[in-house]
Amino acid sequence: MPALTCDRAPPTDGHDPAPTFEQLAVIGCGLMGGSFALALKAAGLVQRVVGYARSPQTLARARALGIIDVEAPSALLAASGADLVLVSVPVAATGDTLRAIRPLIGPSTLVMDVGSTKGDVVAAARDALGERLAQFVPAHPIAGKERAGVEHASADLYRGCQVILTPVPETDPALLARARALWQALGARVRTLSPDEHDAAYAAVSHLPHLLAFAAVRALAQQPGGAQYLSLAGPGFRDFTRIAASDPDVWRDILLANAAQVREQARHFRAALDTFEAALARGDAQTLHDLIADASRTRTRWAAGAYAVATETPCTEPPSSTSPR
Ligand code: NAP
Repeated sequence: MPALTCDRAPPTDGHDPAPTFEQLAVIGCGLMGGSFALALKAAGLVQRVVGYARSPQTLARARALGIIDVEAPSALLAASGADLVLVSVPVAATGDTLRAIRPLIGPSTLVMDVGSTKGDVVAAARDALGERLAQFVPAHPIAGKERAGVEHASADLYRGCQVILTPVPETDPALLARARALWQALGARVRTLSPDEHDAAYAAVSHLPHLLAFAAVRALAQQPGGAQYLSLAGPGFRDFTRIAASDPDVWRDILLANAAQVREQARHFRAALDTFEAALARGDAQTLHDLIADASRTRTRWAAGAYAVATETPCTEPPSSTSPR
């Protein structure tokens, strides 16, 4: 994989001034969209939030929780009059959503998404947005929870997280700068990657780990005696499988959208598993010790921030209820 490009996180007093907006349209009022609306409101960066969700129940709940001020009957009408649009639906629904809102996107409106994959989202945006593509700034906040849904939205979800922006050549530089300043105003550290760099990296650090967690829980639960084993499980099982509780719609879309890169990472994983299994089969204590020591060192160094880019603060251990993606 090529070296990742990265924006230097500017010093706190070097940020562009926080941009303000009159009307935010949140299309997909779930965990990510709801948290974005709450964060903008808490920071005083938006006057009015109009929301649209697939089900009337979600929309009513978003209104009752004070996440949105106005319920829109369609994605198109939600976008009407907005100077900021956030598309926060499962990634496979992004193309249809952008196509639906395109006629009412204003000439200077900033449009963003929060999808966990970027190659498919950028291709869908290119197909759906026509001349409005320049106004679309693809974004992926590396924040979240394994529990989806509007009930779990919180104003501080994005504080301290990384946000990856994957602009395309057509992206308007002024809107890209506005998007960067907005995420920074919410307390996020912004990095810029190409869509391909993004998808290769997140297949390795997020998508394959989720697949492994789903598979590990399934393998355990399906075997004879699985229920008994589950009754005996402790903190190691809880930590390793926490992300297996993630939302099926969201994760089906992510794994399918990035299937080639996830399968490439699965090959690396199988090779490593084979190495461990071979050492076990030989009863090779020294090799097993060395393999574990090597992994333990890498994990400890990562948690201490050794892999963080020079200008960024170290990645700290998340609280157990958060799920960095
Ligand atoms: P969520 O809480 O389930 O919210 C998804 C929202 O999209 C809901 O309002 C849902 O409406 C709506 N929706 C679902 N299917 C739709 C469709 N086919 N057409 C239109 N709207 C639809 O999910 P989320 O966790 O916020 O995830 C949203 C996006 O954020 C995904 O693209 C995901 O990849 C990305 N992301 C998630 C995380 C995370 O930790 N969860 C982290 C980073 C990025 P109803 O409630 O009415 O069904």
